Amino acid sequence: MSDVSIPSDLLPADGRFGAGPSRVPAAALAELQRLGTTVLGTSHRQEPVRSEVRRLREGMRALFGLPDGYEVLLTVGGATAFWDALAFGIIARRSRHYTFGEFSGKFARVVAGAPWLDDPDVVEAVPGTAPVPSPAPDCDVQAWTHNETSTGVMLTPARLDDALVVVDATSGAGALPLDVRDVDLYYFSLQKGFASDGGLTVALASPAALARIAELRATDRYVPAFLDLATVVENSRKDQTYNTPAVATIVLARVQVEAMLAEHGALDGVVRAQRAKAHHLYGWAEDRPWARPFVSAAEDRSLVVGTIDLDGVSADDVNRVLRAHGVVDTDPYRKLGRNQLRVAFFPAVPLSDVEAYTACVDHVVGALAT
Ligand SMILES: *Cc1c(COP(=O)(O)O)cnc(C)c1O
Repeated sequence: MSDVSIPSDLLPADGRFGAGPSRVPAAALAELQRLGTTVLGTSHRQEPVRSEVRRLREGMRALFGLPDGYEVLLTVGGATAFWDALAFGIIARRSRHYTFGEFSGKFARVVAGAPWLDDPDVVEAVPGTAPVPSPAPDCDVQAWTHNETSTGVMLTPARLDDALVVVDATSGAGALPLDVRDVDLYYFSLQKGFASDGGLTVALASPAALARIAELRATDRYVPAFLDLATVVENSRKDQTYNTPAVATIVLARVQVEAMLAEHGALDGVVRAQRAKAHHLYGWAEDRPWARPFVSAAEDRSLVVGTIDLDGVSADDVNRVLRAHGVVDTDPYRKLGRNQLRVAFFPAVPLSDVEAYTACVDHVVGALAT
């Protein structure tokens, strides 16, 4: 097996297909280097860094077509830290959670551990399927995950009742369809769809979400300063963060959102490109006797993270050969325990590389069989 060799003309231009972090485009790194002596290493309270934050916030506003009254928030700490902030600052008493894999489950567990909140109402689906959302009359938050990164299932947020719609969009934002009027708080780390590095969260907040944040802040609930969403709102309005941000992460994400706008005009255009990549990957799997999409309901299949089960050929063996050729990180989510390839095709991954990926797998599977 170790001597299986992939001809170099089959290889993708860039071999990084991990489900997080995303590959970072060379142009973004060049911009980072250009700003390396003027913006990096300068005060985040001064104009050069604040203007990067402003451009990032303006880019998000344009990409998602935010209506008046919606605000773009930015804070230190990725989605994992933001879950704690949400337990303090957006859930009044009880939240409904749709869990269908690792990430949606983790947020539900954070909330279950918060003694000042009622036990969450959890609707669970078997990995590889999508839960069926429904009204939750005694809940004040409906917590969704736009794209369950661990299984490759997407779940489009919708309004079902009066609860705030709070969506972890970490791997889906900027790649999956969204009508922002259907959500109140749409939050994401920047190292996936926005091809940046870790450590920051952007959240699109509706007027109702901003009102809830202010209301809860006025109660006597204890809130750790770092996790205080009211402080996040205050600082974001000034194009700042409460404590020192990862400036490189801001710059890389700003370049990516501006590149998406330049290439596609708005989110719809990006989604169209994602559909073409998904169509190729899932169609390829359906055409192979030894492969099939893990997610059986076609409408639930993610437009950004594809999970492909293999039959009669070891995904570990395939991944080992791919890795030896610089085609990396298409291992399945470890706790899923399946014989699977998990291929992320974030907006920074061109269709041509997804096509090259499947050609490489065809070659490796053919070589392993002989
Ligand atoms: C990656 C991911 C997270 C965790 O993001 P961090 O920035 O590592 O905290 C949370 N939710 C989803 C859906 C993810 O894909």
